[in-house]
Amino acid sequence: MKQYPAEPFRIKSVEMMKMLSKAEREEKIKEAGYNTFLLKSEDVYIDLLTDSGTSAMSDKQWAGMQLGDEAYAGSKNFYHLEKTVQDVYGFKYIIPTHQGRGAENLLSKIKIKQDDVIPGNMYFTTTRYHQEANGGIFKDVIIDAAHEPSAQHDFKGNIDLEKLEAVILEAKPENVPYVSLAVTVNMAGGQPVSMANIKAVYELAKRYKIDVYMDATRCVENAYFIKSREAAYQHHSIEAILKEMFTYADGCTMSGKKDCLVNIGGFLATNDEAVFNQAKELVVVFEGMPSYGGMAGRDMEAMAIGIKEAVQYPYIHHRISQVQYLADRLLAANVPIVQPAGGHAVFLDARAFCPHLSQDELPAQALAAAIYVESGVRAMERGIVSAGRDKDTNEHHYPKLELVRLTIPRRVYTYSHLDVVADGVIHLYNHAQDIKGLKFVYEPQMLRFFNARFAPLP
Ligand SMILES: *Cc1c(COP(=O)(O)O)cnc(C)c1O
Repeated sequence: MKQYPAEPFRIKSVEMMKMLSKAEREEKIKEAGYNTFLLKSEDVYIDLLTDSGTSAMSDKQWAGMQLGDEAYAGSKNFYHLEKTVQDVYGFKYIIPTHQGRGAENLLSKIKIKQDDVIPGNMYFTTTRYHQEANGGIFKDVIIDAAHEPSAQHDFKGNIDLEKLEAVILEAKPENVPYVSLAVTVNMAGGQPVSMANIKAVYELAKRYKIDVYMDATRCVENAYFIKSREAAYQHHSIEAILKEMFTYADGCTMSGKKDCLVNIGGFLATNDEAVFNQAKELVVVFEGMPSYGGMAGRDMEAMAIGIKEAVQYPYIHHRISQVQYLADRLLAANVPIVQPAGGHAVFLDARAFCPHLSQDELPAQALAAAIYVESGVRAMERGIVSAGRDKDTNEHHYPKLELVRLTIPRRVYTYSHLDVVADGVIHLYNHAQDIKGLKFVYEPQMLRFFNARFAPLP
């Protein structure tokens, strides 16, 4: 039998959760317009909406919060954070920001000029937004397998080197400011990139004198997959793997809300002094002084401590094993999920789960609402509702994938909680024909999934 590591922490502070009855949950989801984003957190039993900013901090991080040096300039917590990023990630310069998108804004403004082309391994919403808002054109160069929910591949986040070279040649190298390399790829389901691919991408980029900037948001999860799936690295420490990964980059943007184990914060890191100097000028306009960016001193302290905790093997081994555990329980009951499971979430294939619903009946939205009613678990739709409408024709985008994301926060839930999730989803799968489709009753113009309201179809 497969073994899953027990929690490598013990619990010293608890937060009680509310368990509503099924009748009460039916009432709450109706009030929320069948949109899980509009549920109140206190009405949710197990919250798998996102792993962003939802991590549990350690006793050491909470102790660090008391050491906040809230000086306007030159806070000692900044120097601690700077040294930690230099030691653990290996980059020379760092600029703190309020979260990841703040760093993406700075990098895009500094590097991108009108009509530049930025190749990347699938997009992330905020990353692509800032690239395009600064006149750039994003080109997806991820391998084809990343777009196939059932394609088995150890490193589904890899860049297709032929696609990358073709994009560079077509755009001309001087119009490619950098390659945007995400490790892991959130939108592909948290799929990792191999060290061999990272290295090959860097070498190819450098042949054309192009920089590589990583989206390092989920870099520790990526390092874990390299250790467990890439033979040459099985005896390396997570820290050694991370360090090597970053030798193949000129810098990175980071959302601290994920692999830095904090609730808020981020940074831009670079080895390029010119980029650093421009970032120091810009950060004052958009975030704050270069020695705090968008963060309080205490938050920088907690982040510095979190960066070191995240590279401890027992922590990351347990985290990825939790994701695997939930995936394995669902697979054992033949529930259709995206395979292999990635680093932060299990994605249900709503089309296969609810074959009686057409895409116009919003199957993933309906399934997410039904999961809440069944079990008090909150998940997120990633399908036609999230995809929005075409700017020119005003028709719905019809994405290939209709997914429901069950995202696991870091250090928050136990395997028993995941059993509740699995039992609820499996029960629902066996009664899936009872899930009714939904229709929009209120549809916002932009990023409609956040605030849209729905009603059940008859
Ligand atoms: C969350 C996330 C971001 C954006 O970071 P924020 O802190 O939410 O602004 C960027 N890239 C990836 C891969 C992410 O998961």
